[in-house]
Amino acid sequence: METNREHMRLEMESLSRNEEFARVVTAVFMSRLDPTLEEVDDVKTAVSEAVTNAVIHGYRGGQGTIYLELTADLEERILTVAVKDRGVGIADVKQAMEPMFTTDSEGERSGMGFSFMEAFMDQVEVESQPNHGTLVTMKKFIGR
Ligand code: ATP
Ligand code: MG
Repeated sequence: METNREHMRLEMESLSRNEEFARVVTAVFMSRLDPTLEEVDDVKTAVSEAVTNAVIHGYRGGQGTIYLELTADLEERILTVAVKDRGVGIADVKQAMEPMFTTDSEGERSGMGFSFMEAFMDQVEVESQPNHGTLVTMKKFIGR
């Protein structure tokens, strides 16, 4: 059966100003699923958190490429967002995803990024391997 899906991929440098770029691209792409403003804001927040993590943790503020993949299932009205880096990776994903867990020692981070992603999206999966990078896949069910 022909599935009613649309897909896009974006590669960008690991720069904090690309957080905004990724948010806007995602918002425009997801508009074809006819979301509410609240749904758009939820997804933008989650994308921001994932891209920020890639920039500051994955690549530690250094050079790297961040991959953003978006899939819109127009029939089921599901948006899938994948944010990937080839950075340092996470040794213990379960621990990293706990609320308030952070490896930041400067006290600037609250360790709530993954919690926000889980709160604002319907599904969040994290695959990671030390020295290979991290893939965060999130789903938003629109209109439910
Ligand atoms: P906050 O998001 O509240 O500013 P935080 O980034 O430390 O703080 P989370 O986003 O929940 O909190 O991430 C928790 C921890 O998981 C991070 O401190 C970091 O150690 C690890 N982590 C998250 N994303 C990545 C990534 N892409 N690459 C490597 N480590 C990551
Ligand atoms: Mg974070």
